[in-house]
Amino acid sequence: TARLRPVRGMPFGPDSLTRVIAVTSGKGGVGKSTVTANLAVALAQRGLAVGLLDADVHGFSIPPLLGLAKDGVVVQPTRVDQLMLPPVGHGVKAISIGMFLQGADSAGNPATGAVAWRGPMLHRTVQQFLTDVYFGDLDVLLLDMPPGTGDVAISVGQLLPHADVLVVTTPQAAASDVAVRSGLVARQTGQRVIGVVENMAPMTLPDGSVMDLFGSGGGASVAAALSVDDAEVPVLASIPLSPALRASSDAGDPVVLSHPDDAASQEIARLAERI
Ligand code: ADP
Repeated sequence: TARLRPVRGMPFGPDSLTRVIAVTSGKGGVGKSTVTANLAVALAQRGLAVGLLDADVHGFSIPPLLGLAKDGVVVQPTRVDQLMLPPVGHGVKAISIGMFLQGADSAGNPATGAVAWRGPMLHRTVQQFLTDVYFGDLDVLLLDMPPGTGDVAISVGQLLPHADVLVVTTPQAAASDVAVRSGLVARQTGQRVIGVVENMAPMTLPDGSVMDLFGSGGGASVAAALSVDDAEVPVLASIPLSPALRASSDAGDPVVLSHPDDAASQEIARLAERI
C-alpha cells in the first residue's frame, strides 16, 4: 500500500508535547463518542489538560455529551482575532462542527444541523480545527473519529501521523469484524494502534445474573487480529452496558462524574489510567 504524504507544519506534530489519541470504530452506534467524551473527562479529572476534537463531522455528537448544548442550542467558541477559543465542558476543551451550525438559514428556517460535505470540505474542517483553534498547552488531545475508513480517517492520518489509535467495538462479531479494518487503515497511515476498548459488554444485574445483550469476545478478537509480531494490541477496557451511562449521556452529565461508582464509570477510569 502506498504511504500517504504527511502534511508538514501542523500543530500537534512530531515535536509537540501533546499526546494525540484518535478514537475510532468500524461502525456507528458502538458508543465511540460516549466513550471518548467520558475518557476525556476522566483524564481531566486526573489533572491533565485535555482537548477533544470532534472529527466525526457528519455525525458530530460531542457538544451535548459534554453538557455544551441546552435545548438544542450549542455553546459557541469565542473568537479572538484569527483564533477560536474552544468552549470548556466538564474540564475538557472541545471543538465540534455542531458549534457552527446554529441559527436560521437565509430563508429563516431553523438550522437542521445536517452536514452534507464531500471529502475536501471534511479535510479542511479537521485541518482548521487543528490550526485555528487555540487549545493552549494540552497534555492530551482526543479525536472522536467518524466510524469506518472514509475520508476523515485518511485526512487525520496525513495531518496527525503520530497519533495513537484506540479502537472501540461491541462484543458482537458484526462490530468487531469491521473494527479491525479501521485499525488497519490507521496503521497504514503510520499511526500506532495502542489498544481496543470493548463497550456494551455484559452487565451484572442487581440479582447477580448477567445480561449479555451483544454477546462477548469481540474486544479480544479485534485485539488479536490487530496484534503483530513486535506489537501486541491489548484490550484496555471492557465497559459494561449501563443504564446510568445512557441516561447521564442524554443529560449532558458524563457518567464518570454523575455516577462514579457505576461499573461503566470505574472501567472508564481504569482506561484513563492505562493509556
Ligand atoms: P457512536 O459514537 O459509536 O455512534 P454513541 O456514543 O453515540 O455511539 O452511542 C450510541 C448510543 O449507545 C447512545 O445512546 C449511548 O448513550 C448508548 N451507549 C453507549 N455506550 C453504552 C453503554 N455502555 N451502556 C448503555 N448505553 C450505551
